[in-house]
Amino acid sequence: MIEKVECPKCGCFNKVTDNFCWKCKRPIDSEDLERHREKVSREKAKRDNELRIQESELQNRLEMAKDSGDWSCFSKEELSKISESVILTTSFQISKMDIIKEIEIITSEVVYGVNVFKDVMVQVRDIFGGKSETMKKVLRDARKEVLEQLKIEAYCAGANAVICVDLDYQEITGSGKNGLMMLVASGTAVVASPQ
Ligand SMILES: [Zn+2]
Repeated sequence: MIEKVECPKCGCFNKVTDNFCWKCKRPIDSEDLERHREKVSREKAKRDNELRIQESELQNRLEMAKDSGDWSCFSKEELSKISESVILTTSFQISKMDIIKEIEIITSEVVYGVNVFKDVMVQVRDIFGGKSETMKKVLRDARKEVLEQLKIEAYCAGANAVICVDLDYQEITGSGKNGLMMLVASGTAVVASPQ
């Protein structure tokens, strides 16, 4: 990042090598630069401190949730973020890791309407190939969602990996206009540690 110095008079930013503010023509000297650097480092320290506080609050909430098993105080976004590192594999083992504990079988579900596809078809029927591309996207989103949810389930169960992950598409109501599809992900939540 190119260092810039803030003009104390008008607040606009100037190149460090400039002797005058480009806007208000106020002379810029080394003291301005020093002041500016101090301000930047003060702001950085403040931000770092805020992040540290947020981090330790998060740790406290995590510990409480792990003890009680109640994760309801976390938003879906927070859970997605903290469970991001959970490993998913369709295999029964994980390369370069030992499975030291099998916790339980976990599942996650995403329900989506079949009419999603119908709407899509009407919109894009003129575009050759577009139909299947858009349908693929709907399926891809559902898959992404269900796997993200599986990671959350695993994390909340105390696992850091899920093995034997399986995806299953099911129709849960009659076909037709209001048909519903369900995508189910299942697997075994485990604790794995590097070999
Ligand atoms: Zn200025």
